[in-house]
Amino acid sequence: MRILISNDDGYLAPGINALAEALAPIADITVVAPDSNRSGASNSLSLDRPLSVQQAANGFYFVNGTPTDCVHIALTGMLVERPDLVVSGINNGPNMGDDTLYSGTVAAATEGYLFGIPAIAFSQGEYGWGNIDAAARVARDIVQRYAEALEKPYLLNVNIPTRTYEEMGPLTPTRLGRRHQAEPVIKARDPRGREIFWIGPPGACKDAGEGTDFHAVQQGRVSVTPLQIDLTHRDQLAQLKKALA
Ligand code: MN
Repeated sequence: MRILISNDDGYLAPGINALAEALAPIADITVVAPDSNRSGASNSLSLDRPLSVQQAANGFYFVNGTPTDCVHIALTGMLVERPDLVVSGINNGPNMGDDTLYSGTVAAATEGYLFGIPAIAFSQGEYGWGNIDAAARVARDIVQRYAEALEKPYLLNVNIPTRTYEEMGPLTPTRLGRRHQAEPVIKARDPRGREIFWIGPPGACKDAGEGTDFHAVQQGRVSVTPLQIDLTHRDQLAQLKKALA
């Protein structure tokens, strides 16, 4: 099995190192990741400048672009053979509910999925890389368990509690929850006295009931959400057709 690995925290992040180490024994891996932290990059492509690919001493490739750039370049011109699976992460912190729309981790997997390749995004339930090796072991379990079992292509969003492997709850199929709106921006002054703004943290959980990703991770379970990309609101499409008839 050939696996393309990317992330949004950058090629030096502990999460992508742990993921590559866990998957190397079971697959032919290639790592193509951003040269710096591009968390929150969503599905962005860099169209205003050229991109370059360099290789680090450990064999990882790094790109001066977004997570989506990395997977796009790998699939459209860099890799000689098409991968069987694209994986992304393991992200520093959760990507649940609305996070999935902003996430570069999910975006890297999405880019593989849009090219018809099964893809999985992995994130840890908390920030700080605690028990990252346990999370990587869970990621490998999931790759081994799902790679052949699901109808292809699939796009899975996985959030792994920050626990030891022994204490890890079971894999749990979930739907995305919802957050409250994001916290307000943080206002400050630059050294010249001009007002500047830092984007604030995401909102707290709003829909975090049973069956959601938030609920599963809070219970110490590994949340696995199958995603789709069609954003069409079917009910409103019917209303719109009626209104415009
Ligand atoms: Mn990130």
